[in-house]
Amino acid sequence: MSQSQGIPFLDLVTPHLEFEQELMAVFQKALRTASFIGGAMVEGFEQDFASFCQTEHAVAVNSGTDALRFALIAGGVKPGDVVVTVPHTFIATTEAISQAGAQPEFVDIDERTYNVDPIQLRFYLENQCTEKDGQLLSKRTGRPVTAIVPVHLYGQMADMDAILELAERYHLVVIEDACQAHGAEYFSRNHNRWFKAGSMGQAAAFSFYPGKNLGACGEGGAITTNNANIARVCKMLRDHGQAKKYYHDIEGYNGRLDSIQTGILSVKLKHLASWNDQRRERAAQYKSLFEASGVKVQTPWEPSWSRAVYHLYVIRTEDREGLMAHLGKAGIGSGIHYPIPLHLQKAYESLRHKAGDFPVTEKIAEEIVSLPMFPQLTKEQEERVVEEICKFESVNAGKRVETASWSPAQANVTA
Ligand SMILES: *Cc1c(COP(=O)(O)O)cnc(C)c1O
Repeated sequence: MSQSQGIPFLDLVTPHLEFEQELMAVFQKALRTASFIGGAMVEGFEQDFASFCQTEHAVAVNSGTDALRFALIAGGVKPGDVVVTVPHTFIATTEAISQAGAQPEFVDIDERTYNVDPIQLRFYLENQCTEKDGQLLSKRTGRPVTAIVPVHLYGQMADMDAILELAERYHLVVIEDACQAHGAEYFSRNHNRWFKAGSMGQAAAFSFYPGKNLGACGEGGAITTNNANIARVCKMLRDHGQAKKYYHDIEGYNGRLDSIQTGILSVKLKHLASWNDQRRERAAQYKSLFEASGVKVQTPWEPSWSRAVYHLYVIRTEDREGLMAHLGKAGIGSGIHYPIPLHLQKAYESLRHKAGDFPVTEKIAEEIVSLPMFPQLTKEQEERVVEEICKFESVNAGKRVETASWSPAQANVTA
């Protein structure tokens, strides 16, 4: 990167300049064969991405939101159903649920992982649902609860063993929102091996929005699954419900991913594993810099069963707005993912939630800051970020009474 002063939150220029020739060749190939929609580049990418995720199938679609919607529909979610997810996620998670005709219901997150808390999920299923004629009904709405969408937020997988056990007990479909977790891994104690994100639920959704760990030069997404029927239905849904040209078995959507984007994604996919390694190194470096500095911020917690791919590097601090303003003045980019929990968004007024309904989500939404994180981030840049945070926190520490900060070592670790 050329700038000596500013540190961007995300650098999307450098990684593409590196492969400019290869990326241009994709465009040229599409031009010269006029294969713009479908064809060999799409199929090639689908095979490559399925093998990267260790699944049997991948279906390329035009966004992560469509991937999630198609996976839910193909997984059997019906209009009127309830789908359980977390309020601490991007709104696309719940948009896809609503677009499938279902209604989202929320379960709070774990304060350490920022992903769904299996204890809260069990509490919800045992206490806020009731079984009638072999069907699980939400007490809140009386509607059938049929699926769970665990979100692998910030690049770390949710505690899938616990989620899958509950899903099996209550006959729920599990659709992973892996839009931030390409290549993340989870150690299943039940199977005694590591699993890739997208390979544990009945199906999963990925996004290739440019800023994601694997990003297109435009919009894109994919469904991964080991279920041939789900893959088949997703292929129909993305293409107006047709199994064969002009034979429409169902009504579908225009949700295809164009071949230029899949060609670009194939070029970039070859580097994804090493980019993820670099993100993990950057995260380890942040952690050791923060530890050495003694500054009072909460760094991300990675349980022994998780290999996160750090789509975002999120810390927590008391004066988040102050810290972000300070970083901004120092020319350092930062972000909040996400500032307003979904249950308190205007779009979900009709669900009639109130502040206090999901206290962990609400608390962390006020404390989280995402720091610059991308594979090409340098050690020197990270040192500057941490140095500026130390400057701010040390000035601030003098202004307020110290309160003991939460630490994962003190928390009761549940399996
Ligand atoms: C990006 C994202 C999506 C949606 O992906 P798009 O490709 O933008 O439609 C869904 N869920 C989460 C958690 C995301 O981060």
